[in-house]
Amino acid sequence: MAPPLTALLLPALAALLPVPAAARAPPRSIAVVGAGLGGSSVAYFLQQHFGPQVQLDVYEQGGVGGRLATVTVNKQQYESRAASIHALSLHMQDFVKTLGLRQRREVPGKSAVFSGEHFVLEETDWYLLNLFRLWWHYGISFLRLQMWVEEVMEKFMRIYKYQAHGYAFSSLEELLRSLGAVLRSSYGQSVLVPAFAGAMSLAGAQGSTWAVEGGNKLVCSGLLKLTKANVIHGRVTGVSLHSSEGRALYQVHYTSSEGQGSAFYDMVVVSTALHPSRSNFSFQNFEPPIDNFPGTFQPSVTSVVHGYLNSSYFGFPDPKLFPFASILTTDTPALFFNAMDNICPVNISAGFRRKQPQEAAVWRVLSQQPLDKQQLKTLFKSYYSVQVTEWPSHPRYDSTKSLPPIVLHENLFYLSGVEWVASSMEMIAVAAKNVALLAYNRWYQDLEKIDQKDLMHKVKTEL
Ligand SMILES: Cc1cc2nc3c(=O)[nH]c(=O)nc-3n(C[C@H](O)[C@H](O)[C@H](O)COP(=O)(O)OP(=O)(O)OC[C@H]3O[C@@H](n4cnc5c(N)ncnc54)[C@H](O)[C@@H]3O)c2cc1C
Repeated sequence: MAPPLTALLLPALAALLPVPAAARAPPRSIAVVGAGLGGSSVAYFLQQHFGPQVQLDVYEQGGVGGRLATVTVNKQQYESRAASIHALSLHMQDFVKTLGLRQRREVPGKSAVFSGEHFVLEETDWYLLNLFRLWWHYGISFLRLQMWVEEVMEKFMRIYKYQAHGYAFSSLEELLRSLGAVLRSSYGQSVLVPAFAGAMSLAGAQGSTWAVEGGNKLVCSGLLKLTKANVIHGRVTGVSLHSSEGRALYQVHYTSSEGQGSAFYDMVVVSTALHPSRSNFSFQNFEPPIDNFPGTFQPSVTSVVHGYLNSSYFGFPDPKLFPFASILTTDTPALFFNAMDNICPVNISAGFRRKQPQEAAVWRVLSQQPLDKQQLKTLFKSYYSVQVTEWPSHPRYDSTKSLPPIVLHENLFYLSGVEWVASSMEMIAVAAKNVALLAYNRWYQDLEKIDQKDLMHKVKTEL
């Protein structure tokens, strides 16, 4: 007997219908370029969403941790670059908890602002007196600034709710818009980006901060270990586009100590700056072509100096009376440094105390140019060692430039563009979570979770 017509037609009809989202297999393999905090956290979040069966390869040309790095002075390690984490950094807090790490004990120390001739503002032990001094010095505009920063931070906290509900943004503009940082865009100009960046960096400068016991870079190595990611020590030289069974396939080319190599992936996340100055790698076979994204990086030099502070330069001939552990500076052209801190090692024992200014201490000096001998002699009576890290690291926020894209191709994403919005550890972690959610929602075609408007209302009414 001939089979009924429906039995013949059903398989053909089924082939015409879109594959149900849940039926699609996860990507077989994902490559991440860069094992800084961005690369490590995106690897972790990608695995959380796609599951442990996905093969994760993380390419790193230098040390795991990237800009989270330490230097050794007298057998102790000190943070040489990114040192402090804002109290409200929820992803960083979560990483530390998940990895069984600890927050480092805070060692109190006072700050002051130096004009090049004298201290214009000095912190005291009294919070209200500090507030009064700030108000006295800067007037009501200071309080307004404080309130504005708090408002931006309060809105920024919304992102955690959106992410917990699985929402992602396909561009930095959409992400900022969802946080209430409305971008008045004209001729592609994102006028409020420098303001947002300013608020974030002011938020980092005020209020309490913390660091990871043992070094902030432990978060990166810990996340990569937890995800069992395969770390490939090599420099990625390019990504080329191919296709297989109608799907995009990305070939990552790299050089390592063993020579040149390449591997194919269903998905790639680039977590290092695509900038002409770094001329990291090229993209082949993409139409339209993918290029580097222009912009200017602020030179940043960190000098970790082990020595005796020249307190006379700061108006304290007796070093025993010098009360500050942290010196910020006003925008005085003649001043050759931006800030300096009497820093503590990354491991703090129970009985640890900060070195007094009359003792040889470890100071981290931030400047735009390397310090010459004369400048070092101005700041220090004498010193045992100086370790210099030089890097064009901070983007110069520019309201005339449009922001780099997050989606470079179907399943090829750019994470580090977020640094043109704000450069901090938590901001990178937020962007990493966004890229992982975006990649997941796009892979399973869950478009209702991308670039949704009125999210505050949506997350309130969702279960
Ligand atoms: C001096 C300084 C002080 C800072 N202070 C703070 C602070 O106190 N608090 C704070 O929150 N933030 C701070 N920051 C910012 C913070 O360091 C960054 O936001 C964060 O570390 C960026 O992480 P990332 O993974 O995006 O980039 P990176 O850490 O730069 O990681 C990128 C990685 O990619 C690798 N890579 C590059 N090209 C290739 C390639 N072709 N192939 C393979 N690998 C490649 C690099 O080696 C690197 O490891 C500071 C930054 C600097 C420089």
